[in-house]
Amino acid sequence: PSAMALAAENVISELTQNGHEAFWVGGCIRDELLGRPVHDMDITTSAVPEEVIAIFARSIPTGLAHGTVTVLQDRHGFEVTTYRTESGYVDHRRPDHVEFVSDVKEDLRRRDFTINAICCGLGGDLIDPFGGEKDLALRVIRCVGDAEERFDEDALRMLRCVRFASVLDFSIAKNTWRGLLRQRDKLAHIAVERVRAELDRIVEGPHPRRGLAMLARCELLARGKAPFPWTGTDLAAAAALTAGIGELESAHLRWALLLHALKQSAQEADELLRAWTFSGTTRTSVVQVLRVREAWTAALEAVPPGEPGGTDLLRRRWIAAVLTFGVEAAEGWLSLLAILPAAALPAANSPADSEVSPAVNTQAVSKDSPAITAPAVPAREWIAQMPLKSLSELAVTGNELAEALEKRPGPWLGNMLSALLQATASGDLLNNKQELLLEAKRMDGHEL
Ligand code: ATP
Ligand code: MG
Repeated sequence: PSAMALAAENVISELTQNGHEAFWVGGCIRDELLGRPVHDMDITTSAVPEEVIAIFARSIPTGLAHGTVTVLQDRHGFEVTTYRTESGYVDHRRPDHVEFVSDVKEDLRRRDFTINAICCGLGGDLIDPFGGEKDLALRVIRCVGDAEERFDEDALRMLRCVRFASVLDFSIAKNTWRGLLRQRDKLAHIAVERVRAELDRIVEGPHPRRGLAMLARCELLARGKAPFPWTGTDLAAAAALTAGIGELESAHLRWALLLHALKQSAQEADELLRAWTFSGTTRTSVVQVLRVREAWTAALEAVPPGEPGGTDLLRRRWIAAVLTFGVEAAEGWLSLLAILPAAALPAANSPADSEVSPAVNTQAVSKDSPAITAPAVPAREWIAQMPLKSLSELAVTGNELAEALEKRPGPWLGNMLSALLQATASGDLLNNKQELLLEAKRMDGHEL
């Protein structure tokens, strides 16, 4: 048993020795039975909060009204919650009344899904009145009780349902799915952050496509509070483009792929991610990748097919994009290109230079597929070959330039630095102070 399990065991036996019932419950039992890593352990008990606090010196009254006390034990924290029932979900999210009860089965009844409504005592005996263990074996998400009612009480459960099905790669029981379809409009009662958090777990999880396909089918998202302007049809169409989403390591690349597949411009994506309360960091990294996409698309369009020197032109435009949006975003975009299905990538405008390997994609492409082209050009190598990748690596500073040209710093300076950076990064100029100053003078129209 893990250190966490041992610590939880101490808490449970302490409660038991004081004459109360106490069990591990919910996610930790589910994950343990599935052989998945257990990240936290919740405890359910017949003891009321005052009794829990009296037993454990180190405890925090996290949610007394709901019966929850956090007990600190051996560097671990456990939510210890009194058996309770809930009623009166006026806002379709939180119960208006909770009542402490003495029967653990009553407590299990208020829980969302059968697989989350199992508890386990010190002896390892399961209390499983709703067939959660059986549903784990069947790999199915099933509401405890009447699905329609349970989703009406708390509309967030609908997204939790899809999230568990997606993350665990489970199916959804027929009645549960039917209940979800009947109650889907209630999602409008759920705060955007909560919806986003569930969606994030679907997208970041091991089977994102499963969740996305389910979301496409039930059209749940279109009914949320936030402007999620995608119908089930859009999501279903995007599904084909996101086939490789599970291969992407980072969450922000998965979101970038999703937004790309949903045909969002970088600007639109920025607004959506903001409305969806994503962190600034995530939003920026997603949007930068989409900006690289736009630069890449524009570069491909600017290079006429068969134009002599086309490849070099493309290389320079690419380097400019890398310098503008950063190596990480540029490489991120290439990772997306690598997993986008070939059929989605128009092969138009492939430069015809001899040094270019034959285009990866030569298929004709339907009109509405995103206007991008497969990496028939060695864009990744072009990045690797760049002698420098940002202004901070340039061997000359703005002040040195202004001094050498005997000019006051002004807008010209930024332009000149960019031009020098671009030339150096493209390999036209050595990154050495003398060379750079010489070039600066030439650019400034000095007689040399
Ligand atoms: P994870 O922590 O991996 O998301 P979990 O099952 O532990 O999974 P929590 O949100 O931590 O999920 O909730 C703990 C338990 O509380 C659940 O297992 C479930 O029994 C119950 N629960 C949580 N949210 C709800 C809800 N909205 N409606 C009913 N029961 C819920
Ligand atoms: Mg949990």
